[in-house]
Amino acid sequence: MIFDVHSHAWNFPADFSEDFITQAGRARPGVKVDLSATYEAYRAAAPDDTHTIVFGGKARLSGLWVDDKTVAEYVGRDPARLTGFLSVDPTRPGWENEMRAGHEELGLRGIKLLPMYAGFSPDDPALEPLWNYAEANGLPVLLHMGTTFIAQAPLALTLPRLIEPVALRHPGVKIILAHLGHPYEGECIVTIRKHENVFADVSALHYRPWQFYHSLMLAQEYGVWHKLLFGTDFPFTTVNASIGGIRGLNDMLEGTRLPRLDAEQIEAVIHRDSLALLGLRH
Ligand SMILES: [Zn+2]
Repeated sequence: MIFDVHSHAWNFPADFSEDFITQAGRARPGVKVDLSATYEAYRAAAPDDTHTIVFGGKARLSGLWVDDKTVAEYVGRDPARLTGFLSVDPTRPGWENEMRAGHEELGLRGIKLLPMYAGFSPDDPALEPLWNYAEANGLPVLLHMGTTFIAQAPLALTLPRLIEPVALRHPGVKIILAHLGHPYEGECIVTIRKHENVFADVSALHYRPWQFYHSLMLAQEYGVWHKLLFGTDFPFTTVNASIGGIRGLNDMLEGTRLPRLDAEQIEAVIHRDSLALLGLRH
């Protein structure tokens, strides 16, 4: 089986500002991303036994707002293969009620946060109710970490080190730092190495293969392969393309004496049972 911990569901274009859509043109230079993100398109480029964690996202500052009901409905189409996470934008009033409703009424089983997109720091004391709730209810929290194409989303709020005070206060919460914190992979790797329940996903990285190779080599040298979770960031890429991308990294080194990524560890990432690891077994 394959477990994709990072996929998106939303209504396009209704859930986006025009400004967001324009700026999204910077996401993958030279590639026209189909933001409609239909489940049909997802399944068409994924092995049948792929299980997927899916979420929307809320970030008023950047012009993105996906109602949690959209995610719950998406999950309802294939509940055996989909696990939904709710989202909150803690800079907006009412987020605590949305968090409870997303979990208790809609049955969503984790929390997605977009700190830089929404304009808050993950270690802001105002988020203590969120971390307490996640801890009490066994909800994993996945945070976008690393850069974005959105100009108004502050880089200062997306550094992987910002999760450390949270991990120290709430060592029981399962936390996933998305995208290996690119291009702050070094910070991300030392953070997941130190904190037992902090993981990283490798989504949206394969189309920068040189950087991805270096990031995984850093993970290899620090001995944190076991903390890496497979993910895509659909619709920005697909399961099949992500698997092909990570498997192909060593091919770049042909004709050189550069160190190889451990091919067994790459397979282990692709097949890691992240649902079990995150306490989300059905
Ligand atoms: Zn994403």
